[in-house]
Amino acid sequence: MVLTTIINLCVLFTFSVLLFTYSRRINKFASHTIIHKISIGIFSGGIGLILIETSIRVTPEVLIDTRTVPIILSGILGGPIALFTSGLLLGIIRVIIGGFSSVAIIGGFNTIVSTIFLIVLSKKLPLNYKNAKYFLNLMIVQTGIVLLYITGVSVETLLYSFYFLFFTNLSLYVVIRLMVLLEDHFYMFDVHRKESEVDILTGLYNRRKFLQIIETFLKQRTEMFSIILLDIDNFKQINDTYGHQIGDEVLKSFAMQLQEVGRKYEGDAYRFGGEEFIVFLPGKNEGEVKLIGESLQRKVAEKIHYIDSENKIQFTVSSGASTFPIDGRTVEELYRKADKAMYYAKNDGKNKFYHYHDKKKVGISN
Ligand code: GH3
Ligand code: MG
Ligand code: MG
Repeated sequence: MVLTTIINLCVLFTFSVLLFTYSRRINKFASHTIIHKISIGIFSGGIGLILIETSIRVTPEVLIDTRTVPIILSGILGGPIALFTSGLLLGIIRVIIGGFSSVAIIGGFNTIVSTIFLIVLSKKLPLNYKNAKYFLNLMIVQTGIVLLYITGVSVETLLYSFYFLFFTNLSLYVVIRLMVLLEDHFYMFDVHRKESEVDILTGLYNRRKFLQIIETFLKQRTEMFSIILLDIDNFKQINDTYGHQIGDEVLKSFAMQLQEVGRKYEGDAYRFGGEEFIVFLPGKNEGEVKLIGESLQRKVAEKIHYIDSENKIQFTVSSGASTFPIDGRTVEELYRKADKAMYYAKNDGKNKFYHYHDKKKVGISN
């Protein structure tokens, strides 16, 4: 019996972890689809089936196992639809495995009825990690009563019932601990991933995300696009005059201005590093980006950044643009060319915008 118990627990723990990762992975692509929820229910039902197969046989017909745990888990991970699917599936499986005997039919029917009862209860009390124990014990008590009804009350069946109660509660406790641990890891993973893509100061996506987005864009599509690289003129002076904190506020305010422009054209703005930013403009050709770039150049110079009642700051930028595919076919090449055009603007007295394709006009040599 001890060995069977251990085997049952091992099966439960292993498949619970798999169920958890399954429910989370799919969530990213289809977070609320009914099919996803049903599939969680089927997965949980499958775990229940394996648990029945490795159960402790009290009598040739009465089985003790932890199949209630994956049923509860399906409700936590996939809501009422998953809960109903797993309960229904396990009820049917129990009847089939039991060869349609009266005990099997009672057992199977009991699983389905108690699952429906749990669904009703979950409308009043949310089925989550914290409340899982109440749901489980309600199911166990109901199953226990049915078990005693089938086997008759005796010292032996009472002992088995207590063993069942203890065994199932212990396994739920361990599974929930495991789930909470995994939940923490997934959460921290998401936080770190977000932090690796987003610039903390301005909230814009960073250089890494920019490179990733352009590379994906280049792989999936062939339409043209342009980028504008902007570097604040004499930003060091702003820091030196007003202090770094005000400098930070200026960067935030400028970032919002760029984001507005980027999004207006269905693109976005990125902080490339320090006081250097990029605006990505999908679908924009050389002529269009020149108009957008020149207008942005003027708007930046005109804008007054109201940092606080005492500090109203105005500054200019030097900017350079490049266009796919005329100026390059890789993100590195496009950046290099926009950077050259931007540096040309700096050397030409700052507060200027140039497109790399103007190289003959502006005298940029490769
Ligand atoms: P130029 O017109 O040639 O671009 O001159 P500049 O002063 O803007 O450029 P420089 O590269 O000499 O200085 C950039 C400054 O930007 C130096 C650095 O301390 C400051 N900086 C970079 N990142 C931040 C930041 O996050 N916050 C603040 N406050 N300053 C920053
Ligand atoms: Mg600068
Ligand atoms: Mg710079």
